[in-house]
Amino acid sequence: MPTYADIILPLAVPGTFTYEVPEPACGRVQPGMRVVVAFGKGRKLYSGMVLCKHDQPPAGRSPQPVLEVLDEHPVATPAQLQLWQTISEHYLCTLGEVMVAALPSALVLSSNTRLVAAPGSSPAWTGDNRRDILLDALEQRHELSLQEAGQLIGLKNPMPVIKQLMNAGALQMAEELEPAWKPRLQQYVVLGPEAQGETALHGWFDSLERAPKQLHLLMRYIELSRCLTDDPREVRREELLKRSGATAAELKRLCERKVFALEERAAGVPAEGRVGKPAVLSQAQRQALTDIQAAFTSRPTVLLHGVTASGKTEVYMELVQEVLDQGRQVLYLLPEIALTTQIIGRLRARFGGRVAVFHSRLSQRERTELWMQLLHDPGSHPVVVGARSALFLPFQRLGLVIVDEEHDPSYKQHDPSPRYNARDMAVVLAGLHGAKTLLGSATPCMESLYNARHGKYGFASLRVRYGDAVLPAIVKVDLAEMHKKRKMRGSFSEPLATALELALSRKEQAIIFRNRRGYAPAWQCDTCGWIPECAHCDVSLTYHKSDHGLRCHYCGRGYAPPECCAACGSTRLRMVGLGTEKVEEELALLLPEARIARMDQDTTRGKHGLQRLLDRFGQGDIDILVGTQMVTKGLDFHQVTLVGILNADSLMRFPDLRSHERAFQLMAQVAGRSGRKHDPGTVFIQGRDIHHPIIDLVARHDVDGMYARELPLREAHFYPPFSRMVRMVLKHRDATRVQASAQALAEALKPALGDRVLGPEPPPVARVRDKHLRVVLLKLSRTAYRSEKQHLADTLDRLFAEPPHRAVQVQVDVDPL
Ligand SMILES: [Zn+2]
Ligand SMILES: [Zn+2]
Repeated sequence: MPTYADIILPLAVPGTFTYEVPEPACGRVQPGMRVVVAFGKGRKLYSGMVLCKHDQPPAGRSPQPVLEVLDEHPVATPAQLQLWQTISEHYLCTLGEVMVAALPSALVLSSNTRLVAAPGSSPAWTGDNRRDILLDALEQRHELSLQEAGQLIGLKNPMPVIKQLMNAGALQMAEELEPAWKPRLQQYVVLGPEAQGETALHGWFDSLERAPKQLHLLMRYIELSRCLTDDPREVRREELLKRSGATAAELKRLCERKVFALEERAAGVPAEGRVGKPAVLSQAQRQALTDIQAAFTSRPTVLLHGVTASGKTEVYMELVQEVLDQGRQVLYLLPEIALTTQIIGRLRARFGGRVAVFHSRLSQRERTELWMQLLHDPGSHPVVVGARSALFLPFQRLGLVIVDEEHDPSYKQHDPSPRYNARDMAVVLAGLHGAKTLLGSATPCMESLYNARHGKYGFASLRVRYGDAVLPAIVKVDLAEMHKKRKMRGSFSEPLATALELALSRKEQAIIFRNRRGYAPAWQCDTCGWIPECAHCDVSLTYHKSDHGLRCHYCGRGYAPPECCAACGSTRLRMVGLGTEKVEEELALLLPEARIARMDQDTTRGKHGLQRLLDRFGQGDIDILVGTQMVTKGLDFHQVTLVGILNADSLMRFPDLRSHERAFQLMAQVAGRSGRKHDPGTVFIQGRDIHHPIIDLVARHDVDGMYARELPLREAHFYPPFSRMVRMVLKHRDATRVQASAQALAEALKPALGDRVLGPEPPPVARVRDKHLRVVLLKLSRTAYRSEKQHLADTLDRLFAEPPHRAVQVQVDVDPL
């Protein structure tokens, strides 16, 4: 009986495709293996993944064959394939889109996959015409795509020929994995049997007096390894030679004398027993730990509300230890790459090289390496710290998922599809493994608080700061009053400016938060009010002083600043508004001695840009850090005693159901960067509407008050957590056409959903990159969620399959932020 396989293709086409698995391969092929198939009118070659095997031929057409099975073992686990399916169903996207997001791109082969001659092989004539043509072509062109290879040798399926040449070692795929994957080994220097303990070392100091170079090498080792302190570190052989200036012969001599020994092991994996001791928990931390453990006995998901600087990380580490002791794995998610690099040091100090890190700024090679390692040796890195994409790794014995800063909107992927929220999918992932999920935050989101209050999640809290530090004092500054009394120095009120001077004189650090990057958000004609806008988007241009240009923050295009008004010709143009670049400039004038740096998208590009900035601030090389919301993330700064929030009003003015919740979270989080053990710190909030209830709630650090204020509003308008929202953005170059399609979509949904269909409406920026946008919002009922979403999916499929709507692009965002 023939065997069939349902294949996921790396394309935005819905569903899977059934292919026939030919005789020799059908016994071996398994779900999670990659195969090569031809697809579509052009019979293009793709590598897809086997979702399942069965004996049902495809209905209504003759099956096409699988051309090649690429893997000996599956590269994705059954649990991963299940997670992909859940994501595709929940977020209304295709399985192919999820697969492309999930797999490191080295594992996704496609028609563009390149063939190259294998290193060191000189193409020998094989006597087989087709093979020789390929080898010849490779010698001349260095690389070929699979597609080109097929055309050259005139075969629809070039894979058997290619496979033969690959097996003969003559060619390989450019993105191919190392054939036999091995960890990179490193040599480490440790103290040998003759040099254990301080007394033995002192003996060597004396006896090496006549070998000053060897003595110097030993001294340098003690310094580098910190082996006489409580905080030792590992020293690589190369590092020791480089930093001591010693020769390999001198090192070898000391090894022979058993002062040193060399150990070879995989990079980052510490020798047994060389890991740190647990921290001593405070009374409050211990209580929180007990509460979490108790809550886990009855519920798989627990929310931990811990105020800023309460020491949540130590509580997490105790839980990690517990799970490791059971021989299971831990996934520790953080919303920002910067946070993963800050926490990794602390985790490695405790758990050594068993901790791995995974995020999108790692190289493809590093990502693939960790993937394969977790697949073949799950015990090698039982703790994985990562940003949202770490969710997709092949876990096999997952016991706990920690989602820290669970309120953070960075957990949501906006583009491209799948538009998933890693916090929500973490709960699904844990469920697939029978694992627990711990959500932690100082400012939990409304949905999580609601789930905790209604018993869906367990709950624990940590309401005191570590070391009994108190929360920072909040000073509200009324900008209207300051202007009237002429107490403004540029954008800074006198109280804030004075406090900055004081902090500077005490050698303490400060953070200034302003949620707009660039210099000035707009230019404006003084005579007629004209504002320059992007030619391709309906949005005003932001002035960037560093390159003296106007830039569109939606499409990135740059423009030269206009010399006169395009509407009335007046040359009286002025800049309006305040961006981080201007804040930085004003501060430099106000405090000429201060060392000031800026943290926003413009200053943190590149692989290490952000890390360098954080290192400099951490080392005290910067006095004042000016930044956008990047400074509100849960970063640990120990010397910050002053935080200034400029223009608090601008945070609360967005016409969005979450704007108050977000404003509260941003202000409470940035306030939490201030003050540690000995000094609670001070936070200045400047605003015109300074008596706004949200600012009062921030001043009182009142998360419960925030919840009590927002929840009735959400309920009255049937917003989440009472409903689930779906946001659909329609795009087309023609405004009339996109409006008509959006109208048709809304009309098609209204019979079933009534006034729970909102729109169509143009979004605040209604044209981006020359495409006109319309938004249709849905509020789906939680009780009939599945059937309503199915109705939506059917309606979308039906409506947008037909002209004239077919040309309109639709983006579906389930649970939008
Ligand atoms: Zn004008
Ligand atoms: Zn633009």
